[in-house]
Amino acid sequence: MTGYVYDFIEGNKDLKDLLGGKGANLAEMTGMGLPVPPGFTVTTEACREYLRTGTMPAGLLSEVEHHLQLMQTRMGKTFGDAHDPLLLSVRSGAKFSMPGMMETILDVGLNDASVAGLGRQNGDERFAWDSYRRLIQMFGRTVFDVPGGAFETELAAARATAGVATDAELSTAQLQDVVYAYQKVFQEHTGRDFPQAVHEQLFLAIGAVFRSWNAERAMLYRRQERIPQDLGTAVNVMAMVFGNRGESSGTGVAFTRDPATGRRGAYGDYLRNAQGEDVVAGIRNTVSLGELATIDPVSYRQLLSIMQRLEQRYRDLCDIEFTIENGKLWMLQTRVGKRTPAAAFVIATQLVDEGTISLDEALQRVSGEQLAQLMFPSFDTDAAPPPLTVGVPASPGAAVGAIVFASAAAAAATGPVILVRRETNPDDLPGMIASQGILTSRGGKTSHAAVVARGMGKTCVCGAEELRIDGDSVTVAGRTLHAGDVISIDGTTGKVYPGAVPVRPSPVVRYFEGELSAHGDPLLAAVERLMTHADHSARLAVHANADTAADAARARRFGATGVGLCRTEHMFLGDRRQLVERLILADSEAERDEALAALLPLQRNDFGDLLAVMDGLPVTIRLIDPPLHEFLPPLEELTARVARAEALGEDPGHDGTLLAAVRRMHEQNPMLGLRGVRLGLVVPGLFAMQVRAIAQAAAARVADGGDPRPEIMVPLVGAVQELETVRAEAESILAGVPGAPPIRIGTMIEVPRAALTAGQIATAAEFFSFGTNDLTQMTWGFSRDDVEGAFFGRYLALGIFAASPFETIDVDGVGELVHIAVDRGRAVRSGLTVGVCGEHGGDPASVRFFHDAGLDYVSCSPFRVPVARLEAGRATTRATGSDSR
Ligand code: ADP
Ligand code: MG
Ligand code: MG
Repeated sequence: MTGYVYDFIEGNKDLKDLLGGKGANLAEMTGMGLPVPPGFTVTTEACREYLRTGTMPAGLLSEVEHHLQLMQTRMGKTFGDAHDPLLLSVRSGAKFSMPGMMETILDVGLNDASVAGLGRQNGDERFAWDSYRRLIQMFGRTVFDVPGGAFETELAAARATAGVATDAELSTAQLQDVVYAYQKVFQEHTGRDFPQAVHEQLFLAIGAVFRSWNAERAMLYRRQERIPQDLGTAVNVMAMVFGNRGESSGTGVAFTRDPATGRRGAYGDYLRNAQGEDVVAGIRNTVSLGELATIDPVSYRQLLSIMQRLEQRYRDLCDIEFTIENGKLWMLQTRVGKRTPAAAFVIATQLVDEGTISLDEALQRVSGEQLAQLMFPSFDTDAAPPPLTVGVPASPGAAVGAIVFASAAAAAATGPVILVRRETNPDDLPGMIASQGILTSRGGKTSHAAVVARGMGKTCVCGAEELRIDGDSVTVAGRTLHAGDVISIDGTTGKVYPGAVPVRPSPVVRYFEGELSAHGDPLLAAVERLMTHADHSARLAVHANADTAADAARARRFGATGVGLCRTEHMFLGDRRQLVERLILADSEAERDEALAALLPLQRNDFGDLLAVMDGLPVTIRLIDPPLHEFLPPLEELTARVARAEALGEDPGHDGTLLAAVRRMHEQNPMLGLRGVRLGLVVPGLFAMQVRAIAQAAAARVADGGDPRPEIMVPLVGAVQELETVRAEAESILAGVPGAPPIRIGTMIEVPRAALTAGQIATAAEFFSFGTNDLTQMTWGFSRDDVEGAFFGRYLALGIFAASPFETIDVDGVGELVHIAVDRGRAVRSGLTVGVCGEHGGDPASVRFFHDAGLDYVSCSPFRVPVARLEAGRATTRATGSDSR
């Protein structure tokens, strides 16, 4: 019977959409013959149906009953049996892992009768009553929203009455009293008794897990990780096994390689006499996996061999949850594990060396975002004071900020903060997102804080046990720090420093700069190998947006094969502003020509330097774009200066002239005003001067034996006639500069009309370059500066944007214009070169889009060039990659 429920023996790892990651992988492990407790998975389809209608889909419950029967037969135990009860865990598990974001209920099937049976079977009544009180608490909270505090109060009261400090010291009789008290709490908050019918427990638990898909924190996590909100979660129902049955039992989590560095060899934490929750929550301190070799050598060897088989099966790093019950090993979970960016690069190349994957596939195992993270600066340890303490380096990075102790404070802070906690739990997510870094005093690399921080690429140091956190202060190394005090945490070394430690460039950046060799360094060697393969594979070229020779030189070191955008307006600033002023204020043709003549040699020099640095590579120079009044002082400032002069009875002089000009040139919407090509057509001689400077600079380079390849790019064209007019003038100027090489003339495509009439425009353009910043603004009809602060947060929260359209190209809208322009342009000019020079050129998702759209190159800021190179390679070699989300 195949409907809403799949037995573990029916599924496999490729059914993640239907069974969720956890269910698909439990099925895979079952199929491999690994020791997985028997169970079944309720599909994500059932969840979607439930969330849509608010009721259990027809037939679901009888399917569940049917699969439960099979389980009982296999286990030789009966659910709800008073003598030897089968107990169940009811676990959430979505397609993409969302650690701790949804609910799991353990020990389902205990009631007033079966609790006694469980005690007799295990010869441990105390354990049975402790499990029962945990069930009532977990069930009450997740199924009926009973406030957790109500249970905590009873537990604290029981400790006080018994005169003990910890729950572990409560006797069987005292735990029985806790159970009765919990049942009363349950009754008071829900108006009904705690369900004694175990099947009802199970059905209610399944519904609660379905609903936990829409818990606030789960939705927030999905937005952060860009996981679609409509997938739903599967529910895994499986037989309970007990790691808390004494010293020959325990529970642990493990990775097949070190998720922080990628180093080969099993890695993990183990906790004796404990249930799974205890390790993941990081509440108690664990021992390293290696110590299991002494504690239980047989289980240890079995575990290592299972881990090896899992790696072979998944062809990647796996993480697992396991439990040992009285010396018997059980596998409770596996998945392709999350890892740091450095580990991702190292492991990808290791797997190539081990013959497990190809270089193409290795490229799919890393991402531009990860490379970008590796390029972040780190602390300058020479300039650092002695550390206050050292914790577990759980997620790399160098974070500096003011201490906050509460997630709400982190979320409310205006400046950079470090969230300092004993441990974190899923409710801390908003605070973790808002912080520069996270510091905890408890838990290892597999604690909640560590796992979530790694997933977000956020700096995290955990398990810094010397920290004494006490409400609003933390004491360490004899010093007490308060909320607001600045600290620095190093997620690569685990060191915690007082104050703000200066940062220095990352080794990966120094490698790109040519200052460090990749030889002998596992990370740099991995980066080098994958970058080389990316360059070798890529179809898209990567150019850089560089306005100066220095920027262009760096871009070239970082692997750019051209300048895709040189903004000439930057050459009109500083001392040269006066010349521009003279140009704007010119009363006569002669005055204007004089100003232009003064600018010409300066521009020629700028271009000459740039062309020298980029010798042999294309340099696309954009003629001046912004409105000219941007070069004059702001209106408010001039008004104030003139008013002051007049108040003092002085002549405002030049300021008065400037003010008049600024008033005359004032625009309501400068972004939509006199700028770009419009300026070139209105201000005589301006474009001509720039074209002449480019041609002369190129001619001089040729005379010096260079190979200059400048191109002239006209901004903001919306009609072919604009471009034809500029082109005619430019061609006649170029023809008049002896010794100049051939110089191509093209245009930006940045107003929707240009995209729509690209077929006409291409008759006058040898190349197109999409200015996706302006194109996004003009397509949406909003200006970036005005809207990002005003309503983008709200739009992202409402899901109107999955990501800001200024960061990642809006495929459906702006992307459609790109397709139209490429198609229409190439239809009339087959050799048309097409690139993009907006900020999207350095955004990984956008690079993939531009590759698919058939562009020839992307151009981005020099620092993003390696990211774009990697993504260009990945776009070409894209295949079935491993997804570790
Ligand atoms: P999460 O997705 O948050 O990790 P899990 O479904 O993995 O949630 O469950 C939470 C904890 O309960 C884990 O530590 C897991 O090992 C433990 N657990 C789940 N099912 C069982 C079971 N059948 N027997 C014992 N422990 C279990
Ligand atoms: Mg888990
Ligand atoms: Mg523009």
